[in-house]
Amino acid sequence: METKSAREIWGAALGELQVQVSRSNYRTWLEKTEGLDYQSDRFVISVPNIFIAEYLDRNQRSLIEKTLIHLTSSSEMRVSFQVNGRHHHSSNGHSADPAILAPALSDPNQLNPNYVFDNFVVGSGNQLAYAAARSVATNPGKIYNPLCICGPVGLGKTHLLHAIGQLAQARHIQVICVSAEQFTNEFVSAIRQKKVDDFNRKYRHAGMLLIDDIHFIGGKKQTEESFFHTFNSLFNANRQIVFTSDQPPKAIALLDKRLRSRFESGLVADIQSPDQETRQAILRAKARKREMDIAADVLEFIARQGQQNIRELEGLLNRVTAFAKLLNSPPTLELAAKAVVNIGSREGVTNSSAHSRVINAVAQAFDLQPEDLKGSRRDKETSLARRVAMYLLRQENGCSLAQIGALLGDRDPSSVTVGSKKLAAELVHDKSIKHKLADIQKILNSQTKRKTT
Ligand code: ADP
Ligand code: MG
Repeated sequence: METKSAREIWGAALGELQVQVSRSNYRTWLEKTEGLDYQSDRFVISVPNIFIAEYLDRNQRSLIEKTLIHLTSSSEMRVSFQVNGRHHHSSNGHSADPAILAPALSDPNQLNPNYVFDNFVVGSGNQLAYAAARSVATNPGKIYNPLCICGPVGLGKTHLLHAIGQLAQARHIQVICVSAEQFTNEFVSAIRQKKVDDFNRKYRHAGMLLIDDIHFIGGKKQTEESFFHTFNSLFNANRQIVFTSDQPPKAIALLDKRLRSRFESGLVADIQSPDQETRQAILRAKARKREMDIAADVLEFIARQGQQNIRELEGLLNRVTAFAKLLNSPPTLELAAKAVVNIGSREGVTNSSAHSRVINAVAQAFDLQPEDLKGSRRDKETSLARRVAMYLLRQENGCSLAQIGALLGDRDPSSVTVGSKKLAAELVHDKSIKHKLADIQKILNSQTKRKTT
């Protein structure tokens, strides 16, 4: 019971944190965390590795505690971070009892037990990648080698990669699954400690090599070189290699030509953004899995918010259920609408929220009041300021179209699309707008720095 609410509360907290820290900050430090346990004023967060634990502990603790205090209406909250709080992956799918969690995962691959094929919802945007992933897991080294799964963030690349790993492991294949970042760090420290031979031995004898976010090594010459040799020896031994990337191999900046052509010799399967139908199916599956009882029209409403990133989509679902729980009311359509609009529109509570800061800074730069941006004035200057605000909320704060519409006085998401696009075009042609935008960004950045130091 407590475990479930820790997960939900943390899901809602992530929704809040996502709009308070920069996008890259969120992706690096917060995205892969989970709520583990929550008891009165103590909250345990599971993080994937010790670096993240240390970073969050040092730099984000107070922001996290504040966010949790707000969400739980507690007067105090003490967070602690646990590396890999999840239990050693087991095939029976039972989640671990937090009370008996092992301190560390003995599986160095750290395959996420939730990332299995059974939990993956197939839709038109991901069916190719799904089919390819399944077939390399069952026929490794035989059909598509290497397999590259590419697509924007949050569309299930890591999920498929881990699913391949777990299926292959169940068939007794020696799988190594690492992020390109881990691979690079390991390589660098092997050089430093003069243990490159050990490093090579480990990777060149893998039964299957899965590398996540390969774009990370683009331009890191020595790592690329090492990876190239690892790749060749595995490839020649018919070992399956799979990697994921946020771009197709030919678009990865600075990637060595030889490596690029090797990558392209296999299958490049891209994942596209989920359509409305897939988003709904994903929400249905997530709700069912967590035994949440949510009406179809509410799920449809959440899906209609247009979240392309599935993690964010899930965050929205968590937010709605957390809201329902905290307000002690069923997750009705009305409540869902409130929960969605409430994202970031917390100026009533605190005007230091990241979104208000953007709106305030833009208004100030144009000599307007924040209300003008939210109101119906349509003169040239106000409209331009509004477009700048839309653009910044989207680019810097990663707000969804619906969110921006809500923040700027209940505007239709489609008008936000039009506005942001128009501004993007204006930025190309009009230097003065560009400079103004840069000035506002500077102000915002300096505010963020002051807040976090
Ligand atoms: P990426 O690696 O592409 O950034 P992830 O694999 O980390 O994305 O996916 C983000 C989240 O969305 C994960 O929690 C994952 O389980 C979930 N997810 C992504 N695609 C699907 C899908 N098709 N069905 C169910 N869950 C999905
Ligand atoms: Mg990923």
